[in-house]
Amino acid sequence: MEIQRTAVVKLSVPDERRDDLTRTMNTFRDAAQRFADRGWEGDDDGCVITSRSRLQPLVYDEIRDDTGLHSDLTVAAVNHAADALSGCVDKMKAGERTSKPVFTSNTTVYNTNAISYFDGYCSLAVYGSGRVHAEYVYPDESPQAEYMDSDNWEKQGAKLRYDQQSDTYYLHVSVTKERDESSGEAESRTVLGVDRNVDGYLAVTSTGVFLGNADLLNHKRREYERRRARLQQQGTRSAHLTIESIGDRFARWSESFLHQASKRLVTEAVSQGCSVIVFEDLEQIRKRISNPSKFQQWAFRELKRQTEYKARAEGITVESVHPAYTSQRCSDADCGFTHEDNRDGDDFACQKCGKELHADYNAARNIAHRFIQNRLKSGSGGATHHLALKSGTLNGNGDYSPSTV
Ligand SMILES: [Zn+2]
Repeated sequence: MEIQRTAVVKLSVPDERRDDLTRTMNTFRDAAQRFADRGWEGDDDGCVITSRSRLQPLVYDEIRDDTGLHSDLTVAAVNHAADALSGCVDKMKAGERTSKPVFTSNTTVYNTNAISYFDGYCSLAVYGSGRVHAEYVYPDESPQAEYMDSDNWEKQGAKLRYDQQSDTYYLHVSVTKERDESSGEAESRTVLGVDRNVDGYLAVTSTGVFLGNADLLNHKRREYERRRARLQQQGTRSAHLTIESIGDRFARWSESFLHQASKRLVTEAVSQGCSVIVFEDLEQIRKRISNPSKFQQWAFRELKRQTEYKARAEGITVESVHPAYTSQRCSDADCGFTHEDNRDGDDFACQKCGKELHADYNAARNIAHRFIQNRLKSGSGGATHHLALKSGTLNGNGDYSPSTV
């Protein structure tokens, strides 16, 4: 079996070549958009075109002539558009709302022809022709060094992403290797724990990311229910139509709210090199949180479903654990003391070792910890799991490694 990972590598790009990469990124996005537009228009039967080999000949020459984009990057743009169109058709088949793909992110997709990997640097095809050399930036003995420097991992295509906030280019490289079943070699997997809540933050990760305002979600829901109740009392036909339209609008708003949260969860998992995202089991959460509404239960399920959908594209799996005591246990690696007095609302203060941290952050660390302990106990595959923390990782034995990302 093949193991697949994504190595996220910071790049050092020479100042005088940064404009070339920016221009390439903008042109790539335009080209991908034009392929997506054409695919969305559909074939003679009006069906959305999702096949790369059918989409490419339709507009390839025209788009290359117009944009002047490097031929390998133009091929990558077709693939990028076809993938997005396939995603739309999958959603349609599942009866979900969807619309034409619109590319807005600062991303260039490099297939293996358009990127070459060397010792310490890579060479990226740019705009019309020519190449930009960019050096890798990571410490020795980091996971990135293992993926990029050793011969164990085969490097495939990559995505170049530009982070505006830090004015930095990151290369997301797909790497694969054959799993050696006979050697019993331990595969290292990093686990991101996620705590979900009905108030305060919707989700908190074991790496200390707080995301989604659950209070806002509840407020919008109550507002919608109040309006609906008022309109139902009126009972007129026009009131009925208004109910439908505000219902649609609220459904769209809440889905997009959850999409943002799930997207940030997966981004966090990718940037921390995690291959597993762990939630609490929903059936059990219902026992912990007294009386969650049907809507809140839907939001929890939907957040997980959307996370699974997006995580799969990054080669990350989503798992669940039993949530018992995850909010009462001290997540300090040397402690683990469990007591109901440890938690007071949003505050967690261990009655034994004195550790203090946000209660949801503490719970998220415990969720990842439980998953790792379960795997250790079951002895499954001899895999070594690491818990992703704010500034590093912990393995099942409590050994800490500082962060490298
Ligand atoms: Zn403690």
